[in-house]
Amino acid sequence: MRASRFLIHTLRDTPADAVIASHRWMLRAGLIGKLGSGLYHLLPMGLRAFRKVENIIRDEMNKAGAVEFILPVLIPGELWEKSGRWKTMGKEMFRLQDRHETWNVLGPTHEESFTELMKGILKSYRDLPVNVYQIHTKFRDEIRPRFGVMRSREFVMKDAYSFHKDQASLEETYQKMRTAYRNIFSRLGLETIPVQADTGTMGGSASEEFMVPSEVGEETLLISEGGKYQSNQEKTPFVPGEAGDPPAVVLEKKKLHTPGASSIEDVAKLLGVDAVHLAKAMLFQTENGPALVFIRGDRQINEVKLKNALDGAEFRPASEAEAAALGFVPGFMGPSRLPADLRIIRDASLRPGRAYIAGAGERDYHEGGVVFDDSYVEKDVALAVAGDLSPMGDGKLRAVKGIEVGHIFQLGNKYSKAFNVSVLDETGRPLIPTMGCYGIGVQRTLAAVIEQNHDEKGIKWPVSASPFEVVLVSITRSEEEETKVETLHQLLENAGFEVLWDDRDLRPGVKFADAEVIGYPVRVTAGKNFFESGKLELQVRATGQMLEATPEDLVSTVGRLLGRPSPTPGLTEEKRSGAAGASKSAGRAPKKSSTAGKKASSKK
Ligand code: ATP
Ligand code: MG
Repeated sequence: MRASRFLIHTLRDTPADAVIASHRWMLRAGLIGKLGSGLYHLLPMGLRAFRKVENIIRDEMNKAGAVEFILPVLIPGELWEKSGRWKTMGKEMFRLQDRHETWNVLGPTHEESFTELMKGILKSYRDLPVNVYQIHTKFRDEIRPRFGVMRSREFVMKDAYSFHKDQASLEETYQKMRTAYRNIFSRLGLETIPVQADTGTMGGSASEEFMVPSEVGEETLLISEGGKYQSNQEKTPFVPGEAGDPPAVVLEKKKLHTPGASSIEDVAKLLGVDAVHLAKAMLFQTENGPALVFIRGDRQINEVKLKNALDGAEFRPASEAEAAALGFVPGFMGPSRLPADLRIIRDASLRPGRAYIAGAGERDYHEGGVVFDDSYVEKDVALAVAGDLSPMGDGKLRAVKGIEVGHIFQLGNKYSKAFNVSVLDETGRPLIPTMGCYGIGVQRTLAAVIEQNHDEKGIKWPVSASPFEVVLVSITRSEEEETKVETLHQLLENAGFEVLWDDRDLRPGVKFADAEVIGYPVRVTAGKNFFESGKLELQVRATGQMLEATPEDLVSTVGRLLGRPSPTPGLTEEKRSGAAGASKSAGRAPKKSSTAGKKASSKK
């Protein structure tokens, strides 16, 4: 491919909103362009890298026995009513009315559609297990689209759904998908950590996320010292350690004057006690009315756990006015003087039978000796943090930031039941299949590859995801020199390499800088040295290693640098370049010899 006929759209400056490396380099290298908030074009260079990732995913899915489909992105709202998610998906789901005023959804995920589709296809237990997938566009009205294609509003996902006659079969496919995911990410050179995850609005039981450890990751993973436990912070149970013996002021059943001390810090300071001995009351407004949560003074709420405890209801902190309307004195709320019929949750961090200091329900007063009895509903809604105990008992937890690139779920029969999917079992009786689902974000994975492979000059592609494998930079002064480079270009293409020949009429410095920003794994330079003494200069982008080659050993040297199996033994470079149509290299189909030499001379 000639750069003069391809579109290279590198940028000199970084747009202001590109704060993470992958976003910056994807824009600077001209892989993507911004259309609007969370909306990105894939430019030709970006599309090539995108296809590499897509094809690796497809290849591993097919090898794992999954079958590919394409379903409409626009989905009748009715399907979402059926699953109950019309309500639970909230504002993240794009909804639109058509000309008949019927509601539709721009699919954020496709459980509903695939289940409805498979209902008409699956007849008997013999049709199971089956794993169906697509690699297709998704829409999500993200509250904060950011980091370029990492969190956008329109993106491509590989989403797969499996159907089974029993749990054992589901587990088998779940394991297969785990292996397929490991293969996909390792082929892309991505280090990933699988962690236990929350199942959220998807329903179901087991769920794992594949996380790429990265400082810019939006997820926090908690990993135990002993290595037995690794999970998303969203999901990690909080294991209350020993809080130590409380001081007398905590144990005594007594009203305490705490003028103006309405925050945990102020109360703890004023009374000279540690926050672990305080009970914090937090009032939330949910779509089903108010809910009060009591939690240990030193802990924060885990919003994902709280949402689950509230049966998936949307919630927000209540305003002072809302608290006052219920008779509360904000900052001094406690278990005394609670309104009747209020939904109350006691977080598991507050142990029943132990004494705490809590708000007295009256301005400027707290009280000691507050004991929570079993009448409160206990839920684990506290955020576990680094330094907490591992739920597996193997030491403490440490925190690692991660990017979620993939997610696998055991869904159970939530969707098959809602859509009345039924097949006949061995005895002719109806059987409701159990399901799994498995997602990978294509652009996000691509961005994660860049996040793990870049330096201050640009991207350092792993060969498997690079838009081109080799860039041939020519610095020519005559048509004769141009023709010589054309021969090299042909030689590399015939050997089966994906080559971009930077034949643009630009200063060498500009071409080198572009090569570095775009980050092709191998750069071959044909300049003065080549025309005078036949020496080509090679540079490996990942390591900076420089070496020389002649046209005779160019193919084998490039093959070695790209980590390819050596070209067909017994065939010399000369023969290979001489007989372009017959050349076989690196196990690839030979490319057809072209008339590119003629094209080169007619170019100017
Ligand atoms: P997140 O917690 O980051 O919002 P999610 O849990 O909502 O992700 P899933 O519903 O499990 O994501 O979707 C499967 C995959 O799709 C994710 O692992 C991720 O790779 C990708 N993905 C999800 N949301 C986005 C987005 N807004 N932009 C790009 N990729 C996304
Ligand atoms: Mg999300």
